[in-house]
Formats: sequence, structure tokens, C-alpha cells
Amino acid sequence: MTEYNRRISRQINVGGVKVGGGAPISVQSMTNTDTMNFEATLNQVRGLEEAGCDIVRITIPNPDAARCIYHIKNAGVKIPLVADIHFDYRAALSALEAGVDKIRINPGNIGSEDRVKELADAARRKGVPIRIGVNSGSLEKSILAKHGAPTAAALCESAMFHTSLLEKFDFNDIAISIKASSVITTIEANRLLAKTCNYPIHIGVTEAGGEGMGSIKSAIGIGTLLAEGIGDTVRVSLTADPVKEIAAARNILDALGLSEKPRLNIVSCPTCGRTRISLIELLKKLEDAVDAENLRSVPITVALMGCAVNGPGEAREADIGIAGGDGDALLFYKGVTAGKIPQDMIVPRLIEEIKAFRDADI
Ligand code: SF4
Repeated sequence: MTEYNRRISRQINVGGVKVGGGAPISVQSMTNTDTMNFEATLNQVRGLEEAGCDIVRITIPNPDAARCIYHIKNAGVKIPLVADIHFDYRAALSALEAGVDKIRINPGNIGSEDRVKELADAARRKGVPIRIGVNSGSLEKSILAKHGAPTAAALCESAMFHTSLLEKFDFNDIAISIKASSVITTIEANRLLAKTCNYPIHIGVTEAGGEGMGSIKSAIGIGTLLAEGIGDTVRVSLTADPVKEIAAARNILDALGLSEKPRLNIVSCPTCGRTRISLIELLKKLEDAVDAENLRSVPITVALMGCAVNGPGEAREADIGIAGGDGDALLFYKGVTAGKIPQDMIVPRLIEEIKAFRDADI
């Protein structure tokens, strides 16, 4: 894992997953099933866990829905669960009783101070942290009026307002998120938040869109902040199967060298007039084979380059690579050529090499 100058934050413990205080950056997602459909929700939680999610959030719209938490815990699922609460603080209390690992709630939305105290006391008894989640679309009217728009300063002020309500009752087991659909506002607001407090920060761009554009917006928003050392846990929000969010989040962490464990890294050239091989097709075949053989966790860099003129040199950092030739391909290790292989043997050979690297690494 790359040593970034990460912002020093407090640490919270979400059902065994540490967030903040230098802990590895965790990846979160959220179920989109009807919470009352316990089986569907359980299956989705399991699917997210298998995909590499570290923490899963489930909406708990009323106290009855908290039964879903029992159901999932009783099924033996180990991944920590977060209850997403909007206004009904009784749903938060029920989720705590059901064994939830974190609550996401904004204390300013639940009414009297007595309720906030009851919630803070119950969470403290269970050792369960609370995430305050401020979104550009749901700012308090007074703050919006003061700032005129959901600016970075307005969002940060709102987050600190909700935080102060918990701090009033000596509750500090807190994480904060500030999300906006604007990438720039998200970045600016989190920079400000990072300077304003030392709570761990959950980062993400909200309403980012579908898999394509949503991943790009998230990569810019989340990636910029992480590269500055800001952010302790991430969620990519996509209008897509939540499993896609995990792949996108893991790719962002990989691209920044922030994955807890380095994973397989494929580098490939953009192709040009010199390209001597069907590189686009080859890349797809290699990625499919890597997935079919479950090799994404092998920490090797593999290069696919279109020509032998520039390929081996440009990809000299790769552990292994090929460069396209006429009907064959040059094989190279760390930029040093090691003979030629027929083009139809490229994928089988690279898969063999990746497996050999994995087995030697054990
Ligand atoms: S490696 Fe060769 S084919 Fe690929 S972009 Fe560079 S010059 Fe073009």
C-alpha cells in the first residue's frame, strides 16, 4: 500500500472494520432491494461481500424493518451492516437492538434533544458509531438561506451542526460524509471538513449517474481527495447493480496504490498506426480469462503493447508483457525480451505466467 500523507483522523470500529486512524480505506455499498424482502436483501449483501465490499448499508425506514438486520446476522453473514435512517429515530433504536454495526442518521432531523440523547446513549452502550451524512439536496433551510446555495461552506456547516448535537451528549464515535452531485463541490466541501474536524470521513459523489459517467465522476471526486490524503472509507454511487460500485471503488483504490493488498495490474497501450495485433480484442480476452480463473488478487503487472518498436521499452516496469509483431508477439520480462510466441498463445501463456507468479508468491 502506498504511503500517502494521510490526514490524521480518529478511528471508529464498524463491526470489526476499522475506519480512520490510518486503517486501510474500506469500500462500502448499499443494498437496493426492498428491505422487507429479507431473502433478496440477504442475497444482495452476500453478493456484495463476495465482490469485495467491506461494509454494507441497508435502508431501515421504520422500526419493523430492523428485523432484516436480525435475519442477515442470523444467517451467519459477517460483513458489518449499517442502518440508513432518515427521520424515524425509533428505527435507529430498533436497528441497534437488532445488532447493527453502524447507524447513518442526521441528529438534527429526529426532533427533540431528548431523542438525540436517547440515541447517543443507546449507540454508546452498544459501541456502535454514527455517521452523519450531509447531502447537497437536503440542506437545512436556515443554512441554505444563509449561504444562498449548497456551497462547500454550507455543507460543512450543516455537518458540524449535526455533529454538535451528538457532541453535546459526549458522543464522539462519529464518521461524517458530505456528498454533492457536483464533483467540484464534493471536493471543496471535504477539503474544508478535513480542516475543520478530525472525525473519519466517508467520501463519495452522490447521484453520480450510471456505470460509465458515474465511475468517472467518482474517480475524479474520490480520487482527488484520496490523493490529498483525505478520506477513510469510500462509496461509489451508481445507478446500476451495487456490485458495480465495488468494482469501481476497488479500481480507484488500485489506481492510487491505496488497495490494502496490491492486485493484478494490466497496462496496455492506446494502439496507433504501428499496432501489429488486435490489442483491443486481446485485452478483453485476457481480462475475461483473469476473471474466469479468479486471478485479480495476484499482485503482478502485465503489459499488452501493440508493437515491438516501443512496447518493451514503454512497459519496462511490467513484470511480464507482450508486444505485437507480424503473426507473433515478443514476450518480455521487465522490458527484457525472451523470445516470440504465436498470437493465439498469448492469453494462455500470460495466464500460465500469472499463476506461476501467484504460486511462487505463496
Ligand atoms: S506501443 Fe506501439 S502500437 Fe502501442 S501506442 Fe505505442 S507505438 Fe503505438
